[in-house]
Amino acid sequence: MTIKRVALVGGTHGNELTGIHLLQHWQANPQEIARPSLEPELLFANPQANRAMKRYLDQDLNRQFALKDLQDPQLSQYEQSRAKVINQLLGPKEQPRVDFVIDLHTTTANMGLTLVLGCDSPLVIGMAFYIKQQMPEAVLFYEPKERLEDNFLTSMGRENGLLIEVGPCPQGLLRADIYQLTRQACLHALDYLELYNQGQLPELPDEMPAFEYLDCLKLPQDANGQRLGMVHPQAQDRDFQPIRDGDPLFMTFDGQSIAYQGPERYLAFVNEAAYYDRNIGVSLMQAIRLKRPS
Ligand SMILES: [Zn+2]
Repeated sequence: MTIKRVALVGGTHGNELTGIHLLQHWQANPQEIARPSLEPELLFANPQANRAMKRYLDQDLNRQFALKDLQDPQLSQYEQSRAKVINQLLGPKEQPRVDFVIDLHTTTANMGLTLVLGCDSPLVIGMAFYIKQQMPEAVLFYEPKERLEDNFLTSMGRENGLLIEVGPCPQGLLRADIYQLTRQACLHALDYLELYNQGQLPELPDEMPAFEYLDCLKLPQDANGQRLGMVHPQAQDRDFQPIRDGDPLFMTFDGQSIAYQGPERYLAFVNEAAYYDRNIGVSLMQAIRLKRPS
């Protein structure tokens, strides 16, 4: 099936400025995102949160797109309502008007250029392989979900979407290196869709290295939920590096190390500032060879 309408989304989180400024850049320079067979659309997802320079006002907008939540009139706080508006703009979720969504994010974690794959679609995995072919530093972050149950904004595309997550970038800050990585990856994604539509995709590998999301670990806290520590300096910035049983992971406020206990895993979203609202310290991943579905 041909891909035509592509939504380029920024500012889903109001304090992630890279995507917002890319939208402004493309508004002024539409030729950069023009491709013969595509109709790109620009969507500033959460301008209210951006005005407040916050990730969100009431709740994380990028967790509001499950079909059952979009259909639930009781969910009427700000981002819940905003998701319903976006559902009207891009959707409806059951049968979206928009074919593909590219959602631009930054992370405070040292994750470099990370392509978050929220589905098993051959189109999306092929896109990630294509981008990694052009930009070998890209990391594939695999966390497949069923599209209608998926609460991420990328799931609003008929053929799903790609989340581009680049870091480390503090909240509310612009960094030219992060901006350029995000811009290049997004332009490669559009090139891929154009080549796909023309039937001129280059040879892609059958499989590529990736990291599959397994779990997350909470920062140390007491029985009342009071925080007792932070990420250990030896774990800080070690995204996509291995962690083994006994390695230091957290440090209490009086300086004692807390070791990781469990099988060998890889770290991601290490000390992500945006996850402090849920007291999450790190994500645990396993290294896989991701196969490209045919
Ligand atoms: Zn974000």
